Amino acid sequence: MAQSDAVRTVRQYSAEPVAGGDMDKLLDIAGDYRRVKNYVYERYGGIGSLDKLYPGYTIQNEMTACGLRAELGLPSVYYYQAVFDALGDVKGQWTRIKTAVRKAAAANQNLTEEDRHYLRFLLKVNNAFEAVLNGKEPAGLPEAVQTQCDTLAESADAHRVHGYLRRQVRKRQVRLHTERADGFGVTERAYRYGEHGIYLATKQNRKRVFLPLTDSRQYAGRLYVKLFPEESRVEIGAAVRVRVKAHSDYTNRVGIALGMRTLLTTHEGRQYGTEFGELHAAYAEWLRERTAGSSRKDNTGRKKYNAQKRRKEERLHSYINQQLNLFLKNEKPETVCMVKLPPPKAGGVNRKINYAVSVWQRGYIRKRLLQKCREQSVEVVEVLGRGVGTECSRCGGTGSVKDGMYRCDSCGYETDEKVNSAANALKRANAGLIIR
Ligand SMILES: [Zn+2]
Repeated sequence: MAQSDAVRTVRQYSAEPVAGGDMDKLLDIAGDYRRVKNYVYERYGGIGSLDKLYPGYTIQNEMTACGLRAELGLPSVYYYQAVFDALGDVKGQWTRIKTAVRKAAAANQNLTEEDRHYLRFLLKVNNAFEAVLNGKEPAGLPEAVQTQCDTLAESADAHRVHGYLRRQVRKRQVRLHTERADGFGVTERAYRYGEHGIYLATKQNRKRVFLPLTDSRQYAGRLYVKLFPEESRVEIGAAVRVRVKAHSDYTNRVGIALGMRTLLTTHEGRQYGTEFGELHAAYAEWLRERTAGSSRKDNTGRKKYNAQKRRKEERLHSYINQQLNLFLKNEKPETVCMVKLPPPKAGGVNRKINYAVSVWQRGYIRKRLLQKCREQSVEVVEVLGRGVGTECSRCGGTGSVKDGMYRCDSCGYETDEKVNSAANALKRANAGLIIR
């Protein structure tokens, strides 16, 4: 089995309230960081700058020459990190646009197969893409590429394809801009770990801010510093590579159903996280009480509330993680089969806290499960969820659920509803009804 790495974000937390003066210094950097990013978005986010994006030296040089750094008085370690971040966003947008256009073209009946072929070529070859978007013919490409380009253009309706590409891109391109000034990236030149804490460079020459941290782990590479000025605290995120483990004794194929009462039930009826429902309900209840009595809008009250909320969340999450670990260790799955969760409903504001919290927790559980499976080389197969709760996993008939028990109308099969759902997930996976 090929050895690969999984990336996981780990977080560190400030151990004591960050003093107002120190927070101001960090906020100052975050404000400048935002300005630099918006400047880059503005100047290099458009079609006219496409040829500068790869490999990016030109932009580096122009950003040095433009004088913004001196104007802000921002240390170069932060300045270029902000440029790098913003360029990442710009490139990310182009990647998204290209993917979307490729998809749209595949479904467009007005394009011929040759048109699509040529279009895919334009989406793949940067210089050709950029030329067409800027209203020019793709020319001056390396010889072999140019020949391929001309051949493809000839067999297609090039005029139509160019127009289509320009319209599709214009439709999807959004002006990148950020209002948020609550954090910044730091590279190793801008920070240094000390005794139970971290030193961060500030705008004042040689003056560093020291933040005591709740743990003494030390990470390398780029970190992201996120500021919570209202709570006088800081979070530091580090992306770490986790060596993926492969287990030769993980050979089982396990169907599972996630739930808000019992966290996870297998198709054979084993349960993990049986206390989850209670813990979760207590947390939702606590949130509801606090939100109902939100007349105390003063700063200390809010700080206290946020701190308590975070602690309760962390406790819930550590329970979830512990139970998911136990699941993997006991079941030794080679493959986990589960229902694909419907995406959270867009736009609807959930007034009911219980519901909102459960939707949010479900996302968390799924994310953690996927991450853990990735780290342990366990395959996850997601299947369509329609009817998974009413279909009988034994005979395929239809039944109903009452008080957590499933009963089939056709064959009379009775079992825990989650066991039936988990068995259906496994059955659907075995039948190849797999999503993606
Ligand atoms: Zn049945």
